[in-house]
Amino acid sequence: MLTRTQIQIKGIVQGVGFRPFVFALAERSALKGQVFNNSVGVLVDVEGEECQIKQFISELKTNPPPLSNIESIEFSNYSKPINYSDFRIVESNSNGAKFMPISADIATCDDCLREMFDENNRRFRYPFINCTNCGPRFTIIENVPYDRAQTTMRDFEMCENCRDEYENPLDRRFHAEPTACADCGPKVFLRSRTEENYPQINTDEHRFKSQSDIISQANQLLQNGEIIQIDAGFDGPKSDIEIYRDTKLKKEWLCFRFYAVNFFIFFFGIADS
Ligand SMILES: [Zn+2]
Ligand SMILES: [Zn+2]
Repeated sequence: MLTRTQIQIKGIVQGVGFRPFVFALAERSALKGQVFNNSVGVLVDVEGEECQIKQFISELKTNPPPLSNIESIEFSNYSKPINYSDFRIVESNSNGAKFMPISADIATCDDCLREMFDENNRRFRYPFINCTNCGPRFTIIENVPYDRAQTTMRDFEMCENCRDEYENPLDRRFHAEPTACADCGPKVFLRSRTEENYPQINTDEHRFKSQSDIISQANQLLQNGEIIQIDAGFDGPKSDIEIYRDTKLKKEWLCFRFYAVNFFIFFFGIADS
């Protein structure tokens, strides 16, 4: 007999691929309903056969996404189903108390690294590459529940390719909130100036051809023995990273401008380019 329950999961469950995981598990278990982030974690409203629901809850407990950390799973008494037609991820519900442990930023995963070094991949050497399993979290989150609109990524409208990935349940960027590419996401800018004449930072005048050109250029400067200082601000999407060339300070200054904060990837990019 069909029945329905609501499962509230608390802990580090936002920004760690929990909703896509629940979605895939529900599909596999032939359950219907919905999942969404709320102010205390993730809520799953699910209906199906009681034994399937029990199995589903047991899977949630035993095989959660690797980056999650479940503190508790509570579920309501079984009730009459409302006959959901499918299972879906829906808009967050921000009602109620606002206590929500947030995941730390997560170092670039192996899948993203593979893409970043694949010349044929559209994110080849894109320094802000990320996915459901990696990328910035704590640094960009301004409020809970964790949704793109509540992060500093809200200013970057996804391009068609990124949106297709974001909306595809089979894609590893399904609901990856900070997803981005060189077409639509934060970019690296490399600029030079003299001490006397400091061009406006936020013009595209000195924009390089591609993101990887910029990282290569920075790498070249390092290899030429330049001493580089990186100075970063933390005012969300308008954050700056400035790089100063110590030995030739009077001739030229370099400035990287980042439109979001994601330093670990940046450092990685310089070290390995
Ligand atoms: Zn990744
Ligand atoms: Zn894109």
